Amino acid sequence: MPRWGMLIDLSQCIGCHACSVACKAEFDVPLGVFRDTVKYVEEGVYPHATRHFIPVLCNQCEDAPCLNACPTDAIVRLPNGEVTIDEGDCNLNRFCMAACPYDAIYEDPVRKVAQKCTFCEHRTSQGLQPACVDACPTDCRIFGDLDDAESDIAQRIATEDTSVWKPSAGTAPKVHYVDPRHALPLIEVDGVQVDRGTDLAGER
Ligand code: SF4
Ligand code: SF4
Repeated sequence: MPRWGMLIDLSQCIGCHACSVACKAEFDVPLGVFRDTVKYVEEGVYPHATRHFIPVLCNQCEDAPCLNACPTDAIVRLPNGEVTIDEGDCNLNRFCMAACPYDAIYEDPVRKVAQKCTFCEHRTSQGLQPACVDACPTDCRIFGDLDDAESDIAQRIATEDTSVWKPSAGTAPKVHYVDPRHALPLIEVDGVQVDRGTDLAGER
């Protein structure tokens, strides 16, 4: 059984949101909520300002606080390690949303349940890539078996300088990043968590 993980190379992300749109379409995610998005984080002041593009999604944590917080056991871990929500058992008490350090769980305003990224289990079980991985025009997302030393993702993690978002949370994320400009810490250190179109230049 594979242990699925994802590697996102931030040096290749152009912030196009093709991943976000593909995910929305794959799961018919309602307006105003998302399973996958791209954070736009601004750093510096004009004329030395720069913008980082940081795709974020559920980290499919090895030690998942959301799973432990659910009183109805609606959140389950599949044999391949993926953490999913069984909508039939969800009574929307929102404990999981409070427990997730990554704000990765949303309230579905239509179905009235909690939901999040599933690593596209319905696709990967059929030998397909997750929808976001397929959609990325720069191939900055790599999906594969973390336990297979020959897989692209395992080899890149073994040979490159990679990191995870909020390692201090102690959740052992399975989404890894190549982050040569050290953008990931900016999300938590500066509290700059902005979505597409927001311009913080005047606030810094
Ligand atoms: Fe749960 Fe949040 Fe970790 Fe996903 S990122 S497994 S929702 S704690
Ligand atoms: Fe970045 Fe790829 Fe998503 Fe575009 S599709 S925002 S390049 S991760």
